[in-house]
Amino acid sequence: MENTKWDKLWINANIASMADGKLAYGLRKNSAIASKNGLIVWIGRMDELDFNPAEKSEQVFDMGRKYLTPGFIDCHTHVVYAGSRAHEFEMRLKGVKYEDIAQRGGGIQSTVQATRQASEDELFEQSIVRVQSMMQEGLSVLEIKSGYGLNIESEIKMLRVAKRIGQKFNLHICSTFLGAHTVPKEYTGRSNDYVEYVCREMIPFIAEEKLAHAVDVFCEKIAFNLDQTEKIFQTAKNYNLLIKCHSEQLSNSNSAELAAEYGAISVDHLEYLSETGIKSLTKNGTTAVLLPGAFYFLRETKFPPIELLKSHNVPIAIATDCNPGTSPTTSLLLMMNMACTLFRLTPEEALAGVTKNAAKALGLSKTHGTLEVGKVDHIVSWDIDHPAELSYLFGQNPCHKIYR
Ligand SMILES: [Zn+2]
Repeated sequence: MENTKWDKLWINANIASMADGKLAYGLRKNSAIASKNGLIVWIGRMDELDFNPAEKSEQVFDMGRKYLTPGFIDCHTHVVYAGSRAHEFEMRLKGVKYEDIAQRGGGIQSTVQATRQASEDELFEQSIVRVQSMMQEGLSVLEIKSGYGLNIESEIKMLRVAKRIGQKFNLHICSTFLGAHTVPKEYTGRSNDYVEYVCREMIPFIAEEKLAHAVDVFCEKIAFNLDQTEKIFQTAKNYNLLIKCHSEQLSNSNSAELAAEYGAISVDHLEYLSETGIKSLTKNGTTAVLLPGAFYFLRETKFPPIELLKSHNVPIAIATDCNPGTSPTTSLLLMMNMACTLFRLTPEEALAGVTKNAAKALGLSKTHGTLEVGKVDHIVSWDIDHPAELSYLFGQNPCHKIYR
């Protein structure tokens, strides 16, 4: 142990480090963990602490056998948007067809309209309510996509709001440009022209202003085709932006394979993913992000190929997909439960999905996602008797405290 004084020391803790090791959850019972300048500098058993903790560290937290995990990471969200679609939810449950709702100006276009009309401050105020709710469950890193602006001014407004959220809450934000979320109304029947606009004007500006770290595309029959998707990937690559993709959610378009070949950090949804696609993920080190909230809310019946993903050693992350149309949730804990009940992941895999593998999905493995020496000291304490409870409980939040 070094002689300098630590900043923070957690003692008498059960640590679900999620680091690779012999024990499930990377578990270290009755242990202590120390940090300095925001980084973990020491982890060990309590009996290895042969000094007075108060003399060794500025702050000492006695956890009384509570469980510690890495800070949670939500690696796929559309949390910045204006308006609500609750009335559409109600109309559909009263028997109105989706096409009729869309014709009356509903669906994603209604969110686009509300987001365009909102001022930056209004958009910020509406979005932070959801982020505050996420933070109550131990959130430390949040991915936020644009994609309800669909013109350069409104897409920039969304990405600026994302940045402000990070500043307000001291949260690590990964912003993603999703200009290719859907074809805006004014480009109806001219999707190639819109893709041209995305590639020629939007991506260069966003790269120049450093407003996003990655570019995402919704590749689907109702959105953008494979050729258009590749054009956007190529442009993103030219501007040194990371690549990710909404892939194989409603049909198989082979976009996961294409994204992986372009070095995508993640491909997301994946209900219709093929084995060829899975092999491509393994080969290129791409993380699979599963979104059980959307699967549940849309009452899907086609399951993502979980067993094949596991047998091909593809890292699986779990996220909320927080959005007003298909997954109006802010709860990663609920997503962990759904990943287990709907997708049959184990509780340990679900926890890895919102920590270690979510960090991979954002390209943050070196610094985030596990409690190990050298990583950030984003730590959450939980009032539980075993880490499986985090997936087992639903509608209950056992978060005790968040240390960031
Ligand atoms: Zn999404």
